[in-house]
Amino acid sequence: MSKIIEIENLQLTYAPNTSLQRQALQNINLTVESGEFRAIIGPQGSGKSTLLQVMAGLEVGLGKVIVDGLDLRQKKNRRMLWQRVGVIFQQPERQLFEDSLYNDVAYGPKNIGLSSEEIERRVKTALKKVKLGEEYYPLSPFKLSGGQQRRAAIAGILAMEPKILLLDEPTAGLDPKGRQEIMNLFSELCRKQGITMIMVSHDMEEVAHRADKVTVLQKGTVFLEGGPQEIFAQGNQLTEIGLAVPFASELANALRERGKNVSNVTTLADAEREVGKMLRRRNGH
Ligand code: ADP
Repeated sequence: MSKIIEIENLQLTYAPNTSLQRQALQNINLTVESGEFRAIIGPQGSGKSTLLQVMAGLEVGLGKVIVDGLDLRQKKNRRMLWQRVGVIFQQPERQLFEDSLYNDVAYGPKNIGLSSEEIERRVKTALKKVKLGEEYYPLSPFKLSGGQQRRAAIAGILAMEPKILLLDEPTAGLDPKGRQEIMNLFSELCRKQGITMIMVSHDMEEVAHRADKVTVLQKGTVFLEGGPQEIFAQGNQLTEIGLAVPFASELANALRERGKNVSNVTTLADAEREVGKMLRRRNGH
């Protein structure tokens, strides 16, 4: 695997030299491999959104930031990002505006001057990925349900065929079914198409379930980094900074504190296996 994002000594201060000065990020070092699903977690105000904005080229700090081979210290490189990096910030459906679903998804590809055949191919492919069939094409995006609108907005981003998706709480405000549909879609885009995912989320169950690696931010710096099992095994450190851990990890951590020999777990299936092992040991099997 190759590195698709490389950040060294990143520091970002909002409103420098004013009374509103705020150091949002400091001393950030971070590497993401191509095709990885990375989760970024941390308490409110820890710098998660700012970090995504930097990766999207929308904010510029001090330090080295390379995204897909482009050095974002240079303005011309930041401009080239928008065809490679898709950004899905909170409630992307607010940006739907065209008269029909089809035209909305076609907007980006049209803007970069693709042929009409290529535009059509991209729109159809993107809408198929988000499971919106041809019967929806002529409808006003505002006639769609909340979950469908979210998927329509995501299709607009996918039609640009990005290599990296930056997701800021992408399931916020959806019901459990809608949430699961969207998360399944992102997992599939990552696993089957190799799109690199960087997701900011407060949903620890989803983070545990989907991420290859987790970066925990606290006060603008990297507090912990590792695989989800390793991260969520450190329940005390996470709760100290105000973060929750998935239910299964909490159970395993509590059993470990009682002296039980339990491996790191993040899902209920893992927990079931570990409890099974514990019971067999107790019963002398
Ligand atoms: P998170 O996404 O983890 O909640 P943010 O990246 O939004 O954190 O914010 C990090 C810090 O920067 C916070 O202290 C926040 O108040 C501050 N901040 C965020 N955006 C701005 C801005 N546009 N101007 C000034 N300060 C900001």
